[in-house]
Amino acid sequence: EKIIVIGAGILGASTAYHLGKRGARVTLVDRNEKGQATDAAAGIVCPWLSQRRNKIWYRLASSGAGYYPGLIRELEEMGETETGYKRVGALSLHTDEGKIDKMIERALKRREDAPEIGDIIKLNPSETQKRFPLLSGKFSSVFVSGAARVDGRAICHALIRAAEKSSVTVHNGNASLLTEQNRAVGVKIGEETIKADKIIVTAGVWAKQLFAEAGIDFLVSAQKAQILHLKARDEESGSWPVVMPPGSQYLLGFPEGKVVAGATHEDEAGFDFSVTAGGVHEVLHKAIETAPRTADCAVVETRVGFRPFTPGFLPVFGAVPGLEGVFTANGLGASGLTSGPFLGSELAKLVMGEETELDPADYPVEGAIG
Ligand code: FAD
Repeated sequence: EKIIVIGAGILGASTAYHLGKRGARVTLVDRNEKGQATDAAAGIVCPWLSQRRNKIWYRLASSGAGYYPGLIRELEEMGETETGYKRVGALSLHTDEGKIDKMIERALKRREDAPEIGDIIKLNPSETQKRFPLLSGKFSSVFVSGAARVDGRAICHALIRAAEKSSVTVHNGNASLLTEQNRAVGVKIGEETIKADKIIVTAGVWAKQLFAEAGIDFLVSAQKAQILHLKARDEESGSWPVVMPPGSQYLLGFPEGKVVAGATHEDEAGFDFSVTAGGVHEVLHKAIETAPRTADCAVVETRVGFRPFTPGFLPVFGAVPGLEGVFTANGLGASGLTSGPFLGSELAKLVMGEETELDPADYPVEGAIG
């Protein structure tokens, strides 16, 4: 049996890796789109403090966070040690003590089913600042020890390299579906045709265009995000916790003074790849407000990525109705680094006819078809 995976972001890379582990003959195709979400992602793995109440989303995100340590161990055993993954914990900040107590309550409740949350500790402003020295002294926080950060680019490349060590071949190019009546029989990559028994589309926001060519209205929308990489003078940054201030911005520390500050949420930008003055201003304004010492950091890099959202902000995975032989997963939105590796493993199981941990009926692909 021959399987083709189209799209090598975190989702396609993980799917190919898990298929390769099972010995499946797989070709993984990617066209290196500018704006790949995985490449721009910040790297927070901490779904437990989210105020989102949707249980189906939470089950996926929390399973995703729980899946990481085992996967990282597996990759390390294969010689893939460069993933940027580290359990550094997270600080959720607030100036309102009542809000902090509410967060602690929610975290304690969630820990009953998710022991990987680890310790839940209330910190006063000076304790908070000690953990992330760039911060202003005005925030109290909840520290959650099980939270992690991961480098999206690094983990994705590690998965692809590990996949290549098994039965996966990687191909660069723009793939389109080759169909006969209501069945996909292969893909076209430029002038080349590759036949396959099964095709998996993990093409992020670009899946819309790919499916449109096959007559399917796939409802994925793109949310543009701009994010900045800074460099602090403090080199201890490799073990700094993830910082989540009130609102949707955040700060992360990586080794050698690297600080990531993100990100914008732009629903109306379409596929505009540009770094805008307004975007940079928004990210830096909030970063400096939360952590005044980021003002002394060097600006090293800006990245732009497109978060893929499916209707109801709920991810989907499974067989594509009306197009035999095709499977897909999409809609990982703002939490795809967290859930992508796990969902890729689930999708590989589904395609191989094995039982999945998630119920695919909770994440129906039909929900993303117009
Ligand atoms: P993508 O990573 O976009 O990959 C899709 C791939 O498909 C691309 O490589 C593209 O080249 C390829 N492709 C498309 N069409 C074709 C074709 N026809 N032929 C060949 N190849 C094709 N999540 C978290 O959990 N924590 C975070 O802290 C976090 N921060 C983020 C910050 C930013 C700025 C952004 C943008 C996202 C963030 N996310 C985060 C979300 C996460 O990055 C995404 O949900 C996830 O990466 C989506 O992965 P994907 O594989 O579905 O899509």
